[in-house]
Amino acid sequence: MPDRYDLLIIGGGPGGYACALRAAQLGIKVACVEKRPALGGTCLNIGCIPSKALLESSERYAEMAKLARHGIQCDNVRLDLGRMLERKNKIVDELTKGIAFLFKRGKIAWLPGAGKLLGPGKATVTAGDGKTTEVAAKWIVLATGSEPSSLPGIDFDGKNIVSSAEALSFESVPKQLIVVGGGYIGLELGSVWARLGSKVTVLEFLTRILPLSDGELTNMVQKSLTKQGLAFHLDTKVVSISAKSGQVTVKAQSKGKDETFQGDKVLMAVGRRPVGDGLGLEEAGVTFDAKTGKVKVDRQYRTNVTGVYAIGDLIDGPMLAHKAMMEGETLAEQLAGHKAQVNYDAIPSVVYIWPELASVGQTEEQLKEAKREYKVGKFPFQANGRAKCLDETEGVVKLLTDAKTDRLLGAHIFGPRASEMIAEAVAVMEFSGSAEDIARTTHSHPTLSEALGEAARAAAFGAALHA
Ligand SMILES: Cc1cc2nc3c(=O)[nH]c(=O)nc-3n(C[C@H](O)[C@H](O)[C@H](O)COP(=O)(O)OP(=O)(O)OC[C@H]3O[C@@H](n4cnc5c(N)ncnc54)[C@H](O)[C@@H]3O)c2cc1C
Repeated sequence: MPDRYDLLIIGGGPGGYACALRAAQLGIKVACVEKRPALGGTCLNIGCIPSKALLESSERYAEMAKLARHGIQCDNVRLDLGRMLERKNKIVDELTKGIAFLFKRGKIAWLPGAGKLLGPGKATVTAGDGKTTEVAAKWIVLATGSEPSSLPGIDFDGKNIVSSAEALSFESVPKQLIVVGGGYIGLELGSVWARLGSKVTVLEFLTRILPLSDGELTNMVQKSLTKQGLAFHLDTKVVSISAKSGQVTVKAQSKGKDETFQGDKVLMAVGRRPVGDGLGLEEAGVTFDAKTGKVKVDRQYRTNVTGVYAIGDLIDGPMLAHKAMMEGETLAEQLAGHKAQVNYDAIPSVVYIWPELASVGQTEEQLKEAKREYKVGKFPFQANGRAKCLDETEGVVKLLTDAKTDRLLGAHIFGPRASEMIAEAVAVMEFSGSAEDIARTTHSHPTLSEALGEAARAAAFGAALHA
């Protein structure tokens, strides 16, 4: 007889573990299959958390050069990369063990091994020693996430041509790091190594970096990162990459001309693809997009196979941990008979470079394309008292509102700790609030979030107080 559960989740990343934790809270008997030795998925093991740990460490290292302005002399500052990586690994270890603890407390069975769907209500788990067991469950959730993709004809070698996973653990600082792809992963990891001393060159196929973000702010981002030492080659199509004796040669067509770039490492950050291989999708008859590999689901995360659901990076939408988590939690509630849904119009995204770029809602480009009448309210951090005291005055808050109703349609922040400030705009959007709502909200003084209030005044009343 196979082991029986109410709910079997394949994949223990943010989507899968959030679904498991919430379902257990709601009294559902849950098991989660995970083939990695630790829970937490890409996010905790080789994604969000280790990258943010290194961004923080490298930011502090780079900040030393700025401290002289505060009257603090930091001569003889020295990098101990080994220690920096150890700190990062310790954070990962603690957080992944934290999820294992929560599983234990919630009486969630962690089934180590690779899960494979057999059909409605049935799956197998193949452990590391090759032993396969059958598991039965009323509901099965596919949450196998995504993995780095490369360009045709360019394979990762794990040493010189690497993915983000290896770029989180370089044993020494590369002298010259070439980053292929100007999305958030390339810019974040490019920033880490540039701050630690690499000469970083970013090659981007499109004519701009961060193509889904507000264009005005991404121009500012590019200028800022250029000042920090990153070199950008836009409109540049990588044709081939070869590695020999620890050196890589990247051949590209840049603005129509042949160019060659040389370095000691290439980070391929051209995107991620869903993990469907070996999951039994075809055998079980689960419909997925042949081109993107994304599993097709409806608003309740149901696939076309009865009792089989999918969430997170495996399905459509932004490949972000908080989106996966919200889907996991929401699905658990739906399975328990609650009414719950994710508001896809209010999913924030953050690029943890410095200053940070955080956004929610629509960009100016999207509003123009939709021919929607809108107002813009902006406020620079240069005029914000707290930013002055922090010595972090670069950037701006930009709000986009409906021209007639003043409803907040988009918020874009390039500035210090934008990642934290965006939460206020997300909450206002969740409540269908307006710029006036933000303008009439009392913000503590002096805080960075006053800049949001000021941008809201600019949008709602036509002028900020302090600009
Ligand atoms: C460098 C980097 C930085 C990132 N930074 C951020 C960030 O700052 N903020 C953010 O929101 N997002 C970030 N992301 C994206 C984020 O990590 C993903 O969106 C998120 O992890 C997706 O969650 P998921 O649960 O869908 O999948 P995953 O986290 O990929 O988890 C899926 C899990 O399923 C397991 N699995 C796969 N197949 C099987 C199988 N057959 N059987 C058993 N187990 C299986 C995998 O081992 C994995 O552990 C980052 C990603 C990277 C690479």
